Amino acid sequence: MTVLRLDRVSKVFGIVQRWLGRRPGAEVRAVSEVSLALDKGERLGLVGESGSGKTTTARLIVGLTRASAGRIEIGGRDVTALAPADERHIRRTVQMVFQDPLSSLNPKKSVEQIVMLPLIAQKIGSARERLDRVKELLDQVGLPQRYRHTRPDRLSGGQRQRVGIARALAINPDLLVLDEPTASLDVSVQARVLGLLGELQKKLGIAQIMVSHNLGVIRHVADRVAVMYLGRIVEEGSTAQIFGSPAHPYTQALFSAIPVIDPAERAQLPERPELKGEVTSAAYIPSGCAFHPRCPRARPDCSSVRPEPTAIAAGHTVSCHLYPLPTLPLLRRGRSEPDGVSRAEHDQTVGKK
Ligand code: SF4
Repeated sequence: MTVLRLDRVSKVFGIVQRWLGRRPGAEVRAVSEVSLALDKGERLGLVGESGSGKTTTARLIVGLTRASAGRIEIGGRDVTALAPADERHIRRTVQMVFQDPLSSLNPKKSVEQIVMLPLIAQKIGSARERLDRVKELLDQVGLPQRYRHTRPDRLSGGQRQRVGIARALAINPDLLVLDEPTASLDVSVQARVLGLLGELQKKLGIAQIMVSHNLGVIRHVADRVAVMYLGRIVEEGSTAQIFGSPAHPYTQALFSAIPVIDPAERAQLPERPELKGEVTSAAYIPSGCAFHPRCPRARPDCSSVRPEPTAIAAGHTVSCHLYPLPTLPLLRRGRSEPDGVSRAEHDQTVGKK
């Protein structure tokens, strides 16, 4: 069962900052035509450098930011086309766990009040039933009941993250969106929180999208991985495909930073290019393939023609001119974009069929 589907979802922010020397009306394309699908119980890792659009994608999925274009289907219903009340009802099946548990929890409320709030907001259960549910949730996330009346600032980082997860679980979501959920935790606490998330997936079948710059964590927990660069997914596949045989030059360079301890494993790896330079601002996305100014394998057409997703194996797609032409359903025909032209348009220009 598909719990989430994104179809060519984009987010454009307007800039009105003349004092910074930017053109009035200039736009920041934070997310461009992102398509994704996630099944019940599946875990997807969303990776990329800062500014890649992964956090904006997460916020679009949970409704903290509205899409500028595209469809977001939750449980088979397009939430971008619903009335606000219906949208809220559908979206409650998708909950977010934030990076910094301290700033995302109300410091004036107790653990019990924080975890109970979604039940009150959604008018679920009587006072007695809500209290029972809070106790059950604390057991589920492994937080002792004695902390029920404690405020978040008296808890450790790992305990606070458990409170955030308990709050997200309160109304039985089908999907958890986790934005760097272990970034502020030390390594041993990270392992326990990741273990808890794994249990939730197995026991409750909750699908998870984990946004992280920590590739080691993603390799450990995700079933599939999507790699983002300047707002677009440039490669997607199973965790084994993406980590075992990364195809996009950006993915290869990004993964070159992962230390490989085992000398035998290291010797078997192909040469891994280093990632040079900084990510360009999303306000000035390069034409053609946005990665071309940093790409060690760039060709002349890379700066003018935007590559489209190409299936290179079952479930493994890559957007790069080094790979054969995409199959017809993946081609986006007859549209021109501010950041380049489609492959079909380019082929027409150079006289190909
Ligand atoms: Fe590099 Fe060209 Fe592929 Fe972009 S399309 S990743 S610039 S080779």
